Amino acid sequence: VKKPSVDDTTPSPPKNQLGMTAPGPRMNATFVTLARNSDVWDIARSIRQVEDRFNRKFNYDWVFLNDNDFDETFIKVTTSLVSGKTKYGKIPTDHWSFPSWIDTDKAARVREEMKEKQIIYGDSISYRHMCRYESGFFFRHPLMLDYEWYWRVEPSIELFCDIDYDTFKFMADHGKKYSFVLSLYEYVETIPTLWDSVKTFMTKHPEHIAQDNSMAFLSDDDGKTYNHCHFWSNFEIGNLNWLRSQAYIDYFNHLDQDGGFFYERWGDAPVHSIAAGLMLNKDELHFFNDIAYYHVPFTHCPTSEKTRTDLKCHCNPKDNFDWNGYSCTSRFFEVNNMQKPEGYDKQQ
Ligand code: GDP
Ligand code: MN
Repeated sequence: VKKPSVDDTTPSPPKNQLGMTAPGPRMNATFVTLARNSDVWDIARSIRQVEDRFNRKFNYDWVFLNDNDFDETFIKVTTSLVSGKTKYGKIPTDHWSFPSWIDTDKAARVREEMKEKQIIYGDSISYRHMCRYESGFFFRHPLMLDYEWYWRVEPSIELFCDIDYDTFKFMADHGKKYSFVLSLYEYVETIPTLWDSVKTFMTKHPEHIAQDNSMAFLSDDDGKTYNHCHFWSNFEIGNLNWLRSQAYIDYFNHLDQDGGFFYERWGDAPVHSIAAGLMLNKDELHFFNDIAYYHVPFTHCPTSEKTRTDLKCHCNPKDNFDWNGYSCTSRFFEVNNMQKPEGYDKQQ
């Protein structure tokens, strides 16, 4: 075997000069990832896929946030993979700790009980800080203040289809503020009193509730009880100015005061979803059918064969979760009088 000599090897082109950058202006947008240093190889896989399927054409920035300092390996690996600028932020301690009004003994007893009941992450303090941070603080981090739009990416996700258009511009052009690809039912044990807290918020702040809201997505009895439907927030493309609005901040502060991030295990997915469902109008929400996505253990894969071949998808349509009884996406389509995509009926 002939070993390649120095002359045989082509020098790799510099970043962003690969001749595949999409023309036109960019939105004021960034990817955002909350991660630990130990997540480096799992986030590397996610970034590689996001770049190959989308961002090599758009070169958007990527903000990384952590409750600790990022180490050299994390910074080196992620910077080399992202085609846009990378930024690394440390989370201020008061955004990642028990607020003064929380009884930490009571919170500890809850963790013990949840551990016995084997509720997922039930005994974890850091998971609770993470959920509270994603619910109420990431959009206010100084590095995020420069941006209007975000796309949240977690470690170990997959993207299965090409995304050939600017998803941020799509959101702006169509008046969208929040979007999802997968929806499901939350574990009741993690949020027993969340809806009670939401109901007192609605009474206290009727001015924040949208006229044409999606209550029918969240409740089967016109708001009396929560049906546990939520958008899966490990994927989100959304508007940061909405999260920074008085309405959302009042909502988060109200929930935070009630203590359920620590006395229960409220997740950022139901917290964001309920906010989007009640404080945005229906037409401000978007389901990205063409973003094929996996986060353990669920897959969104377009049912239409034409979509899959046009977008060079590599997901198995049999793995699609949307039209399964445990998904809330059918309900979303019904609430919005939307026609289900081609091929959905073969999957029920
Ligand atoms: P799951 O998807 O609900 O199973 O939770 P993950 O373990 O994926 O955590 C959600 C997100 O928060 C991921 O982006 C993690 O990298 C991040 N994350 C979770 N716990 C911590 C933590 O203690 N510190 C930091 N910096 N990030 C965390
Ligand atoms: Mn995850």
